[in-house]
Amino acid sequence: MTEDGKTQHTSDHRMQDGHGTDVGYDADCPRRGTSRRAHRRGTGVETPGGPSRTMGHGAFSRRGFIVAGAVSVMAMAGWAVFRFVGSLPFPISINDVPMTVSAGTTYQDLVDGGDLVVHAGDLLAVDGTVLTPLAGTPSTIYEAGVPVSDARKPIPHGAVITSANGDDVTEDTVTTTTPEPYTTLIDGAGAISTLVQQGIDGTQTQVAGVQSGIVVSTTETVAMQPLTITAANAKTAGDKVVALTFDDGPSPYTPAILDALAVRDARGTFFTLGSQVEEYPTYSVRAVSEGHQVATHSYSHPNMFELTSEQVHDEVQLGISALATATGVTTTTFRAPYGNWSEREWAATSDLITRQVIWNVDTEDWKRPGADAIVSNVMRNVKPGRIILMHDGGGDRSEDVAALPTILTNLANAGYRFVTVDELTAYL
Ligand SMILES: [Zn+2]
Repeated sequence: MTEDGKTQHTSDHRMQDGHGTDVGYDADCPRRGTSRRAHRRGTGVETPGGPSRTMGHGAFSRRGFIVAGAVSVMAMAGWAVFRFVGSLPFPISINDVPMTVSAGTTYQDLVDGGDLVVHAGDLLAVDGTVLTPLAGTPSTIYEAGVPVSDARKPIPHGAVITSANGDDVTEDTVTTTTPEPYTTLIDGAGAISTLVQQGIDGTQTQVAGVQSGIVVSTTETVAMQPLTITAANAKTAGDKVVALTFDDGPSPYTPAILDALAVRDARGTFFTLGSQVEEYPTYSVRAVSEGHQVATHSYSHPNMFELTSEQVHDEVQLGISALATATGVTTTTFRAPYGNWSEREWAATSDLITRQVIWNVDTEDWKRPGADAIVSNVMRNVKPGRIILMHDGGGDRSEDVAALPTILTNLANAGYRFVTVDELTAYL
């Protein structure tokens, strides 16, 4: 109804415009012609009273004027008719709806007047919302099925106008690949931490709208695999095994420790410092030859929490290589100085070690409480599967040397066997 009303209104408007032009032509041109004729006539009337020289000439001119005037009037009348007919409103159709427009109406006039409703498509975000109205593909106006190249051209008589709205266009997308660094997980609790899965960095691929930034999808192109460590204590089910461990050596006290172990045919584990191995390589060689386990305790006994990850790696690597150089044993078992070790340090050294081993029983020999107190600390806290901390380096270890034979005797009397840390891991 509204569209019909608008169409009618606009048609009337066009017709009035056209009619106004017609009136102007009718009123103006014939009047000018009449005026000229009157002027010519006036001249002819005056001529007979004028000189004969001008009479003959005047008679010839008069006939000429009459003929010329008649031709002129006919031509002007014909032109007027032509113009009049040409300016008459004529029918067209817009998308199958008939209407009438006046001469000279352009396609753009129809659009501006609302008779031809056509619009460009919108620019859409990836989620379908409108980013920029009318920024899609442009609309098209057809006349007799042929696209109109210039909407400012006059519409031909009987035009069959159709239109097509532009299409919506969806913004482009951008694909971003983001590395996903692996995380480190330490599951459980206990003195023996074991690397069970290496970490692998993942990759995330995200697709998002260029303009809107709206995320279409996030996919894990490469799955991130966390570095996974399991911490536990040995569960011996009553099997009376115990692991004696000796830190910070080798040192001049190491041979006496080895002697005491040999008397009981006991096996122990030596967490050596690389710097000490370089100084006393033969003690480590002897430890290996007598069936003990040698592992590393770093190169120079730093607090790993105060080092960069790179320095942590270097400390462990140097400790391992010094021991390997001296004994031919490349260990992957490590004990952190002061037990200071966490996820970050694991991530820094997962290419070097598979185990980080602390202790269950601290003899507190580092306090030098006396050999009896060291023995007492062991015997009060020992249980099957426990790891006992002693030292064969890092200072005066005479109390350890004095206490060890008694510890071995007492534990043996209590039914314990002495195993290395590696052997103890069979009970994990
Ligand atoms: Zn230490």
